[in-house]
Amino acid sequence: MSSTASKVLGAAVVAIFACAVPRRAHAQTCAQTVDVYTDDIGGPKLLPISISAIRTPSGASESRLQLLAVMPSGWDVEEVSGDRGPPQRKTTASCAVAPAFDATRTTNLRAFEEQTAYFWSRTARDYASRRLWITPPGWPLGAIKMAKDGVQPNVLTQGSFDTACFPIGAADGCMRVWPTDGPKMHLKSGVVTPGLVTHEYGHYAAGYVFGHMDVFGFSLPAAAGDCAKLAFQEAAAYLFSFLVLHDARYEAGPDAYAKVDATGLYRWPVTCGDPKQAYDVARPLQQAFLQALWGRDPTSTIRVDWGATPGASMPNDPKVANRTMANAFVYGLALNRGQRVDALAGSILEWLTVNEPKRVGPIRRIFAAHGLVPRPSGELCAAHTECMSLRCDNRPGAGCVSLDRMAAPGQFCTAHAQCQNAVCRVTSGIRGTCATGAALGTACTSHAQCATQRCDNRPNAGCVAHDGTAGPGQFCTTHQQCRGGYCRVDYGRVAGTCG
Ligand SMILES: [Zn+2]
Repeated sequence: MSSTASKVLGAAVVAIFACAVPRRAHAQTCAQTVDVYTDDIGGPKLLPISISAIRTPSGASESRLQLLAVMPSGWDVEEVSGDRGPPQRKTTASCAVAPAFDATRTTNLRAFEEQTAYFWSRTARDYASRRLWITPPGWPLGAIKMAKDGVQPNVLTQGSFDTACFPIGAADGCMRVWPTDGPKMHLKSGVVTPGLVTHEYGHYAAGYVFGHMDVFGFSLPAAAGDCAKLAFQEAAAYLFSFLVLHDARYEAGPDAYAKVDATGLYRWPVTCGDPKQAYDVARPLQQAFLQALWGRDPTSTIRVDWGATPGASMPNDPKVANRTMANAFVYGLALNRGQRVDALAGSILEWLTVNEPKRVGPIRRIFAAHGLVPRPSGELCAAHTECMSLRCDNRPGAGCVSLDRMAAPGQFCTAHAQCQNAVCRVTSGIRGTCATGAALGTACTSHAQCATQRCDNRPNAGCVAHDGTAGPGQFCTTHQQCRGGYCRVDYGRVAGTCG
């Protein structure tokens, strides 16, 4: 985009939002559950949802379509706004009296669309805080870095939408982050649906929060022709939307929403020259993910075992499917390997291969049917891109390997650095597995009991790290064991933690 266009655009956006409500009201808020009439899976419904009401100077309560500072966690849903008048607010005598936001499509279309925007942003936030903004099982690298800013939904008519979502006015929604405004999701009036709201929220929840959003949310590299990067962002938003709607469907009852898309099978790799092709490039992963989530390919010849216990022939449990696919998705988002769709697909399969070995077979076949065939650890490779982990040890007899400190005990390895416990036990040639056995600090009497194969058998000591391999906070009994060279031990004890 040229700098002239950028200046014009900046001025126009300021004009639109100059009269918008302040980003953060500092008034006293109270939590309220209100009934909101919303577009829903299977048709509009009146459904209860929580909001943050504001105490007015006169002591009354003002209910607004917003969720502010509910937890120390952040991720507010700021008040739903738009370009067709002031936000929808309802005053009652006190917070204990909850009004209904019950405008319908026919009584007040504008209010109805804003209610739908709130209901699904709020539902998506609830889903993300349970399933996406978490540390997935098997994640060895400590807390995952996430942005905590809230997001503000807007419903805009075509003219304002074209400006706010430049250069994609033909779309139905967009997410933007202006430095002075914070994250905003813009939805085009007339087409506000659960699918649209959860998709745009997905750009925030899976994109912005995980640090994948480009400056301003513009996908500038994509506008400049890097449609692979835009494809990653679209895939992430769709995968999030699929998960939210799949989750909601099983709480809202049966309907025809979002069944496995059997209309076309897109295969990776897809040519990626024009930014418009980004949606096509994202589709193989989207379809494979959706089919894995629903447990079958379009022809129902490949079925995923989503029983509570894999292999026990139990009926599929959609909640198990949803939680498992969400964990794999978070793993891929957290690794953030270059914002590429194929890398995200590889990470999802890698997490499932390690953590759900009894279910991953059919899922890999579904992904393979879409052309996504990355290799697991231990399989021979010539280039990094052939591996789920995006890391190939191409020496003769080696193969795909884990990134440093990612391989769990028992996993394939060719070097100590790949193992979470920093011990790769070579079994043949240069092939080995990360040591299994007791964790650091576990009481022991012999080296063989410990994953590290090193036991400090004094009373109140235990399994210890090899010299120079224990990270900050890890168990130690000597300075030499710590990477930082300092083992903090309290007076009168023999063991402590690395500083
Ligand atoms: Zn999108």
